[in-house]
Amino acid sequence: MQYNRSFNFSAGPAMMPEPVLEEIRDEMMNYRGSGMCVMEMSHRSKAFQQIADEAEADLRELMGIPDNYKGLFVQGGGTLQFAMVPMNLMKNGKAVYIETGAWSKKAIAEAKKYGEVIVAASSKDKNFTYVPDCSDLDIPADTDYVYICENETIHGVTWNKLPDTKGHVLVSDQSSMFLSRPCNVSDYGLIWAGVQKNVGPAGMAIVIVREDLIRDDLDPKTPIYLKYKTHADNDSMYNTPNCWAIYCCGKVFKYLKSIGGLKEMQRRNEHKAKVLYDFLDSSKLFTGAVVPQDRSMMNVPFITGNADMDAAVVAASKAAGFDNLKGHKSVGGLRASIYNAMPEEGVVALVDFLKKFEAEHK
Ligand SMILES: *Cc1c(COP(=O)(O)O)cnc(C)c1O
Repeated sequence: MQYNRSFNFSAGPAMMPEPVLEEIRDEMMNYRGSGMCVMEMSHRSKAFQQIADEAEADLRELMGIPDNYKGLFVQGGGTLQFAMVPMNLMKNGKAVYIETGAWSKKAIAEAKKYGEVIVAASSKDKNFTYVPDCSDLDIPADTDYVYICENETIHGVTWNKLPDTKGHVLVSDQSSMFLSRPCNVSDYGLIWAGVQKNVGPAGMAIVIVREDLIRDDLDPKTPIYLKYKTHADNDSMYNTPNCWAIYCCGKVFKYLKSIGGLKEMQRRNEHKAKVLYDFLDSSKLFTGAVVPQDRSMMNVPFITGNADMDAAVVAASKAAGFDNLKGHKSVGGLRASIYNAMPEEGVVALVDFLKKFEAEHK
């Protein structure tokens, strides 16, 4: 490898596409003749305005975002959205949440501060290893929205079929699957994603929200920064935005367009994930933690069933040049996050390593 970079299986911040890092490097000291780095640039400058405009336009094109949706760049990462969603969307003070793992649990806890939260389905009974049946949920008529975490980063479960919201607004946390496959935006009222999992550097969330859900009649004590309306009315530049993250994300959007868009990204991701899951299914030592039909294409938790053995694999993997394979403490075992930017050769190398480890530990 040209740069001696490791295969980094971190759940986030995570790998970036190498061509994107190279472009950023090349533009670091003097961005396109401006005489400065993007980090040093006024967010009101022509050059930066163009970066932000192109980032939004490219995102809209990639996802096919309809005209009646806004695309916003908001600081505060993913966690701030746990609060912004209920603050902005709870009109009747009531929302339905589906509990599928650590990140929906956090969203539920935060939303409870703002109104009534009905947990209409949960997979807690089996330690969040599946997505519950949501084809016939009990949803009160005055529910403001139905909330899901579409890919649970820690537990490794994904929604392959959206819940039947019975006409209510669907809100989705797509942080760890954003842009990993095509998405029909009009199925949702609001999609949000912290960008450091699958797109760019930490510290920003992308929010895609249907315009009729952007309200002005919020609690008057709502901080101005926490209203979607503030961001929507000011093209995400009410105050100084996370310029650097917008710049890097914009490069990733262009990169995704250059490889053929989200369909091609999905093809590559499915292929990559299959290499790992096929191995886990054939292994006598390792087992995937999630039921096959709800397995994540991005975050793959797996276990040996023995904590000491798990620790031995993690240590050996680190020594062999693979980074961040230790599972989250709530699940244990190992977790390989194989986001968009993880090359297939990284997954193949990991599988070869695990096979060898298994053969040596019979
Ligand atoms: C990482 C993550 C978050 C939280 O993001 P922060 O930027 O760390 O606040 C929320 N939801 C999901 C699904 C995540 O993976």
